Amino acid sequence: LKSKLPNVGTTIFTVMSQMAAEYNAINLSQGFPDFPVSEKLIDLVYQNMQIGHNQYAPMPGLPQLREAIANKIKNTDGVNLNIDTEITVSAGATEAIFSSVLATVNQGDEVIVLEPAYDCYIPAIELAGGKVVPVGLSLPNFTPDWQKVKDNISDKTRMIIINFPHNPSGAILTQDDITALKEILEENPQLIILSDEVYEHIIFDGNTHLSVLKDKFLASRSIAVSSFGKTFHATGWKIGYMVAPEAIMKEIRKVHQYNCFSVHTPSQYAMAEYLKDEKNYLGVSSMYEKKREFFQQAMQDSKFKVIPSYGTYFQVLDFSEVSDMGDMEFAQYLIKEKGVASIPVSAFYSDKQDNKLLRFCFAKGEDTLHKASDILCKI
Ligand code: PMP
Ligand code: GLN
Repeated sequence: LKSKLPNVGTTIFTVMSQMAAEYNAINLSQGFPDFPVSEKLIDLVYQNMQIGHNQYAPMPGLPQLREAIANKIKNTDGVNLNIDTEITVSAGATEAIFSSVLATVNQGDEVIVLEPAYDCYIPAIELAGGKVVPVGLSLPNFTPDWQKVKDNISDKTRMIIINFPHNPSGAILTQDDITALKEILEENPQLIILSDEVYEHIIFDGNTHLSVLKDKFLASRSIAVSSFGKTFHATGWKIGYMVAPEAIMKEIRKVHQYNCFSVHTPSQYAMAEYLKDEKNYLGVSSMYEKKREFFQQAMQDSKFKVIPSYGTYFQVLDFSEVSDMGDMEFAQYLIKEKGVASIPVSAFYSDKQDNKLLRFCFAKGEDTLHKASDILCKI
């Protein structure tokens, strides 16, 4: 069999989580919370199963849920969306990204990916027959260099994929970034943006998330992707949604219809109800900000250097004062010899080059964070 994805193996998240389990290490590698989902949300799913909401939902998602999503977006971004044509509920952000890329990237199209990048973008582009054009974010703070992006645009560039708040670094967009993006779209009429905004409700220090949906012109050329798995700390539920202008969404739904068709029905009823209370999503940032503070404070006494994290539930630490090893080797050493699992940041780059950086997930109870930081401080 000729592989369609010859460069793809098992994801780094699975590899490191398995290794953490094997060596009984504290698992701060794969990004998932270790605390419970709201009782209320669980009850709502259960009640909806009991009353018989157990058959296929409509292909674009339950109208009540699309309405609730539209209300949330109105509340946070101040824009009105058409729920019939512009919002589709997806099986997590992963399916939304996959369906969006397959629907819009043609054979030979180029797609700019800002690296370090989450791992599902490149395989989707390759399966669509597109060519990946990686452009690095500028270190040490992972800021986008829009001139570098412009230098990599050709008449074949179809899409730029962005992800802010950013996994793995926690970088966020500024108003200047939005202005630069608009300028790029104005100069390149063939281009669209895929904006992975799964960490939109995990943003710190009083900053607000700058969604592409907030700006009318940007929104008219963008697909925005979100995940309830992140917002409601239920990564195993695999429910998310995507927003795009009607003409683009029409094409995405053609793929979604056969890639997935529709998403778990009782959960959609539950989410529709749960989203009505804005506290359920607006309160998420402060909960994670406390965890970030706790972990960062604890790491002050270590030889690791803390890179600012403005959003997400990830913290990047620079270990160049701690070890000469490469990040992959050092991450393995930390699991095997010290009992703490993380993700080497090189795994988020296509060239896998070492930057002496590791990503730690702080979506954990304080006890776990305390134990992990205690170990790291003694190295
Ligand atoms: N994008 C990013 C940046 C992520 O970190 C994740 C993490 N899981 C996803 C997309 C996928 O989200 P989901 O689990 O909803 O498919
Ligand atoms: N998004 C998660 C992370 O970045 C991983 C999800 C997965 O394992 N596919 O750790």
